[in-house]
Amino acid sequence: TPDDTRPETAESAALFARALAVTPGGVNSPVRAFNAVGGTPRFVQRASGAFLYDADGREYVDLICSWGPMLLGHAHPGVQAAVQEAVSRGTSYGTPTVPEVELAEEIVVRTPVEKVRFVSSGTEATMSAIRLARGFTGRELVVKFAGCYHGHVDALLAAAGSGLATLSVPGTPGVPVASTAATLVLPYNDPAAVERAFAEHGDEIACVITEASPGNMGVVPPLPGFNKMLAETCARHGALFVSDEVMTGFRVSRSGQWGLDGAREGWTPDLVTFGKVMGGGFPAAAFGGRADVMAMLSPEGPVYQAGTLSGNPVATTAGLATLRLATEEVYAGLDRAAGLLADEVDKALTEAGVAHVVQAGGNMFSAFLLDEPPTTDSVRDFAAASAQNVARYRAFFHAMLDQGVYLPPSAFEAWFLSSAHDDAVLDRVVSALPAAARAAAAV
Ligand code: PMP
Repeated sequence: TPDDTRPETAESAALFARALAVTPGGVNSPVRAFNAVGGTPRFVQRASGAFLYDADGREYVDLICSWGPMLLGHAHPGVQAAVQEAVSRGTSYGTPTVPEVELAEEIVVRTPVEKVRFVSSGTEATMSAIRLARGFTGRELVVKFAGCYHGHVDALLAAAGSGLATLSVPGTPGVPVASTAATLVLPYNDPAAVERAFAEHGDEIACVITEASPGNMGVVPPLPGFNKMLAETCARHGALFVSDEVMTGFRVSRSGQWGLDGAREGWTPDLVTFGKVMGGGFPAAAFGGRADVMAMLSPEGPVYQAGTLSGNPVATTAGLATLRLATEEVYAGLDRAAGLLADEVDKALTEAGVAHVVQAGGNMFSAFLLDEPPTTDSVRDFAAASAQNVARYRAFFHAMLDQGVYLPPSAFEAWFLSSAHDDAVLDRVVSALPAAARAAAAV
C-alpha cells in the first residue's frame, strides 16, 4: 500500500480504520475502496465545482464525478438553491408531487420513452425493466453482454460465456443458479453471436439488455450500427430491446446515447433505464419506454413494482434543476474537454513508451494500459478490455493521486468530467500526466 502511512493522508487512514470496524471493507460500495489499486481511499468532506477536499485538507481534481451524476460539477449554485427550497417544504410525503411530474415530462421530451416510472437506483431500474419485459412478453430468457454492468440484480450478475451463447452461472455467491439460468451472456459488439442466440432461442427471449455505450469495462463504445442491429433483431423476434442509459443518459448528450445513434439511425429502444445525472446527486433513477409496455405496470397493469421513496421530491427537484441547466452549450463544452484530455493522455503514454488504447464514447473516456502494442485500433469487448496490465494502471493512478488528481480506482471504469472542469482545471490534469505515464512505464 503506497501511501497509508504518509502524514498527509493520516486523517483518511484513521477514518478508514474506524469504517473497517463497522462496515465490510470500510465502504458502502466496493469500488470506492482501493482494493484494485492499493492504499487508503480518501474520505471526502466537501466538494465544489471540479474539486474534492479530503479529511486531511488536500484538494483533488475530481475525474469520478460521483461515478457520473455530477454533470455540472459539485455544489452547483442553481441545483443547491432548488434543493434547499425543496427541503424547506419537507422531504418525503408518500403522495404524488409536482417535481416528479415535471421531471417525467422533461425525460419524455428529451428521450424516446413515452412513459416513465421513478425508482431510487440504477439497480432497481434494470431489475424492474427486466421484470416488465418478462411480464409483457410472457417469456423468461434475458440476453446480456459480457462486461456490461447493470447493477447488482441477481439475474444480471452472470459470468461471461466464452464467445458462445451459454446459459450462464452466477458471478457471485448468494445468487441462486435459477436466477441466472435464464440469462444468456454474449460477447459485446458481436452481431453474429446475437444472430446465433436468436436462431436458437428466438421465441424464448424476453429482452436484450445492453449498456447503451458501455463504461463498466472501461469505455468500449458500440461499433457503428450495433445498437441498431440489436433493436431490429429484437423487433423481428418479438423480444424487447432494453437500452441501459443509467450511465450515458443525460451525460453524453441531452438525450443520452440514443441522441448519438438511435435518433440519427432511426430506431428506438422499447425500454430505457436511467439513473445518475437525472438524480442530480441524489438517489433517483427511472425506467421508461413504449406506452403499451409501460401500461403493463401496476397499478395500470398486472406487473408489480413500487417504492417508498420513488420520485422523492428532493431528489426529483435536484434532477430537474440539473437537466434544465444542462444546455447544449454544456454538452459541447464537455465533448471538447473530454476530447482534449483524451488526446493528452494518449500523448503522455506514447511519450513514456507505454502501450495503450485511449478510447472515448461521447464525453466518457478511459485508457487501457497494455503490455504489448494493440493488434486492433480499438478495444471492442470484455476479453480485449481484460488484457489490460492493471499493475500499470495502479502506478498511473497513484502518481496522479499524489499530484492531486482523483481517477477511478480501477482500470475498468470510465473517467468523468463536468462543466466545472474549465481550462485551468484541465491544465492541472495535463501537467500531472507525464509523471504518471513514466510511473506506468516503470512497472
Ligand atoms: N447500469 C449501469 C450502466 C451502471 O453504470 C450502473 C452503476 N454504475 C447501474 C446500472 C446501477 O446503478 P446503481 O449503482 O444506481 O444501482
